Amino acid sequence: MQQGELSMAEAGSVVRKIERKLQAKARSEKGGRGVREKRIADNVLDVIGGTPLIRLNRVGGPERERVLVKLEAINPGGSIKDRIGLALIRSAEASGRLKPGGTVVEATAGNTGIGLAQAACVLGYHSIFVVPDKMSVDKIRLMQAYGATVHVVPDVPRIDPNNYQHVARQLANSTPGAAYMGQFEEESNPETHYRTTGPEIWSDTDGQVAAFVAGAGTGGTISGVGRYLKDCNPHIEIIGADPIGSIFTGPVAPFRLEGMGEDYYPKTLDVDVVDRWIAVGDDDAFDMARRLAREEGLLVGGSSGAIALAALQVAKETANPGYVIAILPDSGRNYFSNIFREEI
Ligand code: PMP
Repeated sequence: MQQGELSMAEAGSVVRKIERKLQAKARSEKGGRGVREKRIADNVLDVIGGTPLIRLNRVGGPERERVLVKLEAINPGGSIKDRIGLALIRSAEASGRLKPGGTVVEATAGNTGIGLAQAACVLGYHSIFVVPDKMSVDKIRLMQAYGATVHVVPDVPRIDPNNYQHVARQLANSTPGAAYMGQFEEESNPETHYRTTGPEIWSDTDGQVAAFVAGAGTGGTISGVGRYLKDCNPHIEIIGADPIGSIFTGPVAPFRLEGMGEDYYPKTLDVDVVDRWIAVGDDDAFDMARRLAREEGLLVGGSSGAIALAALQVAKETANPGYVIAILPDSGRNYFSNIFREEI
């Protein structure tokens, strides 16, 4: 090798540097996510996660500058639950409960069903879901579009034997080759957020996190992300946004928000991780969801509206330095029949 010539390793490193510069340039010119490292995915499940943090520009007051929202609607199935659908199937396979060609059965507010159905298509399983009748018809249609069978049951409390979770478990027991996924008790649910969602937030902010705000349905998101962030920095505040009428802020009463809020404490919720809860009313949450669409171009669901409202409140209150991170769990496309319904 002549003096001044590059070795293969050095040349490779120069090429990678140029590629990174070109990618950054393409990103800034396109104003979008730009050229991603890996352009060909083996299947749709490969592009789950890695969702962006986005600043708010119009809603709220000056406190919005501290808030970053994590847009989970960008997942291929349109919600944060794509992460969990895949994880539940993998854990059922690993434990031997789910065999090749079998059927996944789950009780769902819709998004876990969509995530499971999407993964079931790719991995060769059938899927059956049980959904309470308060959930939007849009999510039911989506599950069906992926080929799932959906049973809609009356929305009754968990102590009632006709509650959707009990019906789903019975269906799994009586269907040959079926396995109950169990998002409300399976450790793989919070563990997936500890392994993916939490580290994404820590790395994208270089650890500049004051507080983390999420809703709790199963509690998987808040428990898994909360545990991860507290392991990184125990001062980070973990805050739950909760519908008025849910047990976490009590007293229990009917509410219209979907996917968040419960009438019991699921096993997957680690209450010790949550520093405090903020109760949000249905109408305020839906108004904020519509504002996020019209003023920020963020088409997200009602739980996102509730969580964004709580995050703006936290941004005013917290003395911690750093960003307030708000999870926006799903797409507004799930709610054309209710929150975004306009007469035409
Ligand atoms: N919002 C929506 C729209 C959801 O579907 C879910 C999942 N049930 C949540 C919030 C809460 O997420 P988690 O189950 O992780 O608590």
